[in-house]
Amino acid sequence: MADFTGKNVLVLGGSRGIGAAIVRRFAKGGAKLAFTYAGSKEAAETLAAEIGAEAVRTDSADRRALIATVAARGALDVIVINAGTAMLGDPLTLDPDAIDRMIDVNVRAPYHAAVEAARKMNDNGRIIVIGSVNGDRMPFAGGAAYALTKSAVQGMVRGLARDFGARGITINSIQPGPTDSDMNPADGPMASMMHSFMAIKRHAHGSEIAELAAYLAGPHGAMITGSMQTIDGGFGA
Ligand code: NDP
Repeated sequence: MADFTGKNVLVLGGSRGIGAAIVRRFAKGGAKLAFTYAGSKEAAETLAAEIGAEAVRTDSADRRALIATVAARGALDVIVINAGTAMLGDPLTLDPDAIDRMIDVNVRAPYHAAVEAARKMNDNGRIIVIGSVNGDRMPFAGGAAYALTKSAVQGMVRGLARDFGARGITINSIQPGPTDSDMNPADGPMASMMHSFMAIKRHAHGSEIAELAAYLAGPHGAMITGSMQTIDGGFGA
């Protein structure tokens, strides 16, 4: 198991779901850990107290606040940019303001957070962005704008890998398929439709995504950069 004792780790969007599983994994590895949340104060504070991490309220859509929160962590070893939202539905009727907010959280925030983290990041640091298999494949109607945001992450990861590689800093996207969370419950109304596209017909657990994050952040991840690491039970196969 990768050990993160003494490593300065920040997880954006760590109060619930996949982010909370990632927070737990780094806590188990002994990291000096902080995570952000936007609305789930109680969940965030409960998790922080349980594992001895710091929970910081920062809406990723607020660029100034986001940059200030990242800068305040100083020289990071690892940043995991997980915070994301999904607006699905008929593009002809979806609220354009809600779509723009999703783009703020899923695209603009990862870019500004990654760049800010890199300013002071220790050499050989790790930047991990939670994308989605929907960046590669969108096999049902109503997901165009969400897929747009996750495809945008791919271009960013490829480009920033070139910018930061000289310092040994890696940047990769983890692309989950259906994963049990409030956003996408394993027993939700879309579950069986999603399973129909998968080779392994179940939702992933957050802990499975978290182990991949730990691998990328650990010593064996040093030569993996500019890549999309898909973990989707064959959703995109
Ligand atoms: P959840 O909705 O269950 O949890 C989202 C987390 O992100 C919460 O901790 C939430 O904090 C935080 N968050 C959301 N918006 C903001 C914001 N504006 N500022 C700060 N934090 C924010 O989602 P998942 O765990 O399912 O998803 C996590 C990531 O994984 C997302 O990027 C998502 O797109 C991606 N993903 C998920 C898949 C799935 O099937 N679940 C599949 C593929 C990708 P708070 O509660 O405080 O608002």
